[in-house]
Amino acid sequence: MRLAQDYTEARGRFLDAARELGAPVAHHDHPLTGPTGEVLATDVAIVGSPSAPNRLLVISGTHGVEGFAGSMCQTGWLAEGASIPDDLAIVLVHAINPYGFAWIRRVNEDNVDLNRNCIDFGAAVPENPGYDLLSGALVPAQWDAETRQASDGLLLEFATEHGFDALQEAVSKGQYRHPSGVFYGGSQPVWSQRMLESIARTSLTGAERTAIIDLHTGLGPFGVGELIASHPDQGGKDRLGSWYGEYTVPSEGTSVSADVSGDVLDALDVWVESPEVTGVAIEWGTVDIIEVSNALRADAWLHAHADPLGPEAGPIKAGLRAAFAPDDPQWATLVWDRFTEVTAEAANGLVT
Ligand SMILES: [Zn+2]
Repeated sequence: MRLAQDYTEARGRFLDAARELGAPVAHHDHPLTGPTGEVLATDVAIVGSPSAPNRLLVISGTHGVEGFAGSMCQTGWLAEGASIPDDLAIVLVHAINPYGFAWIRRVNEDNVDLNRNCIDFGAAVPENPGYDLLSGALVPAQWDAETRQASDGLLLEFATEHGFDALQEAVSKGQYRHPSGVFYGGSQPVWSQRMLESIARTSLTGAERTAIIDLHTGLGPFGVGELIASHPDQGGKDRLGSWYGEYTVPSEGTSVSADVSGDVLDALDVWVESPEVTGVAIEWGTVDIIEVSNALRADAWLHAHADPLGPEAGPIKAGLRAAFAPDDPQWATLVWDRFTEVTAEAANGLVT
């Protein structure tokens, strides 16, 4: 099991594996292209009867670059040709944010975090005064050593005064006022959100029970795949506990993640009409949170204030890959083992 070198290789391997298994695939072309002009698309493979009463939706690339791990899992699962019961269909959504995947970004073509974008833009957007305060320090106009040192000093000051958890919350829970900043939720539903809603409504219609697994990387201890549920109701909690055993809930303070606004799991809960929807994210840890945060800040700076194809891009993109898709076979094995375990538990939970 290994990660692909780039989005195009990941996509090719996914499509080959689906074809070999005889799984039908729908292609949804993205309007833009990758850094070398490559075609971008979200591909959806269905294994099993599309009208099965139980459906398992597995999503990769919600956060672009995090799709290296998710794609590896989806492709590996197809390549293994696992047999599934008659009353179950598995829907694999490959690269729901293909632009971020190809450009090695966590965000999409609008610098939007898809997992902060699924809010009601008809209502007042969530406020984040902590981010407002730190905005200039998080993504300054320059990214030289002197500016970075001064900016890091301001972040450290905030952490010293309010605690590290408060800093993580201010930075990452989502913000709607700084379009070139990090964890920006956007000003309207983006392409990937609209596409995911359309895919979910099409492929999950008529299901009696639906499980969702959204694949993420970049938070937590190296290679550990934490199961994170977003605002589950009591029925959801009962199922999560009985299917998976341990899971965490950010709003209850048990997770490596801050409680975020506008994530896709909450949105899917609304879009999917099944009486029972059981959604979870797997979040695999990579490197420490400061390194991850610095990689994201550098990337936001690159796309806002420099040339993403210029001389500064190389080391910054390498930093992103290291933070979200480590080139380490041991990490890939840990990811794969956890994925197969969780997928089997979900399938088991759905059909029993
Ligand atoms: Zn993520």
